Amino acid sequence: MSDMLLNAEAAIRLTVFLGILIAMVLWELSAPRRRQEIPRVIRWTNNLGLVVLDTVILRLSFPILAVGLAVIGAERGWGLFNTIDAPLWLAILVSVLLLDLAIYLQHVLFHAVPGLWRLHRMHHADLEFDATTGLRFHPVEIVMSMGIKLAVVAALGPPAVAVLIFEVLLNGTALFNHANINLPRRVDRWLRLFVVTPDMHRVHHSIDPRETNSNYGFNLPWWDRLLGTYVAQPAKGHLGMDIGIEQFRTPRDLWLDRMLIQPVRGPASGHALDADNIKETRQ
Ligand SMILES: [Zn+2]
Ligand SMILES: [Zn+2]
Repeated sequence: MSDMLLNAEAAIRLTVFLGILIAMVLWELSAPRRRQEIPRVIRWTNNLGLVVLDTVILRLSFPILAVGLAVIGAERGWGLFNTIDAPLWLAILVSVLLLDLAIYLQHVLFHAVPGLWRLHRMHHADLEFDATTGLRFHPVEIVMSMGIKLAVVAALGPPAVAVLIFEVLLNGTALFNHANINLPRRVDRWLRLFVVTPDMHRVHHSIDPRETNSNYGFNLPWWDRLLGTYVAQPAKGHLGMDIGIEQFRTPRDLWLDRMLIQPVRGPASGHALDADNIKETRQ
């Protein structure tokens, strides 16, 4: 069973990824939420080039990834769910929830610690917001996230199928909640009770630091509401708001070579604990 899962993992993930990416791109072209100023060819080429680079670096950095570790953990009895006798459905449900909470907390951490913000802000420096933005992460952040995920899997001992469900879900929702699609407001209001919607996550890509440092959820919207980081709508509205951060605002900054060196360029301003954000809030 677990061998089958591991063999099928790459095919399942690639199929779902390409299927949702193509669906989102077609949806964006037929019913866009915002008009895009920057030619798509620049952003799409560089954002997709980064995904290929991230994938290669990730495979070279780790002998096994999260699903593989869950299979080994089950064989050797590592982690919580491999030592207690919980029903499989409960183990899957709790594992997916806790993995999502871990990703939320990691996201908060990458906004709060200046050195980590330097890596993560590259995700925020995209000057438009569409499905390819959801794929734009610095390779060092990708490697660190995988390290954290492996530690969570080792401690939690989740069923391998739960980790696969979580990974596929996270990939899919990241493409969906960054998509430049025009969901009817009524649908958005209802949908965001269960999943992070594009309008909810777009707030997180606002240039206003108070909005950048909100709506950290990638998948489930509940952590933001429970932990007080939820902002319903951008102050300037979805069409009037500026996307990105104060730094790196030229089209040249959207090229892959510039993206990769962004962590070492300029100050680490704009992170969640930056005193200047608080000053701005008081004004
Ligand atoms: Zn962020
Ligand atoms: Zn994002």
